[in-house]
Amino acid sequence: MSYIDIVPIGDIEKPLLLFLKQSLFQTFKIETRIRRQRFDLSSVYDPTRNQYHSSGLLLQLINDAPPEALKIIGVTELDLFIPIFTFLFGEAQLEGKGAIVSAHRLHNPFYGLPENKDLFKNRLLKEGIHELGHTFGLIHCFTLKCVMNTSTYVEDIDQKSAHFCRICEREVFHWQEGKNI
Ligand SMILES: [Zn+2]
Ligand SMILES: [Zn+2]
Repeated sequence: MSYIDIVPIGDIEKPLLLFLKQSLFQTFKIETRIRRQRFDLSSVYDPTRNQYHSSGLLLQLINDAPPEALKIIGVTELDLFIPIFTFLFGEAQLEGKGAIVSAHRLHNPFYGLPENKDLFKNRLLKEGIHELGHTFGLIHCFTLKCVMNTSTYVEDIDQKSAHFCRICEREVFHWQEGKNI
């Protein structure tokens, strides 16, 4: 039985993990599990940027993954970067196993606005589906409402939906069929 592993990196509230567990199951129709794992955060921390190296965390996530896990998504409140970008909402291996999403810049207070829990949860879900979509081989989609539409700013996340367009959805399930899942 294959499943999607949801792995908190640092502290993530339990209700938020359960929300992701249920919502990702509804989207991908694959069992979802929550798993705890230890991370060496100091090795991926950049003190000059006060951020964490996304690819380094992704590597730790994949290296410690159980072989039965079909996909793994790390969820963190840490602020992520890769050297060519100021920040990242997330990162994924195209058609690979691992993905990571950061909630850090999805909270309204980050932009000086009052927190909106529902908006925050939806943003995190959209970015989680988006990054996992990459692991199912999807590239960015030009359909504005499609969850695979690329997001540079948080406003871009808000304008898209938490759903795949018909073409992207077909590709995800085609990928699963190809692997007999
Ligand atoms: Zn993307
Ligand atoms: Zn699409």
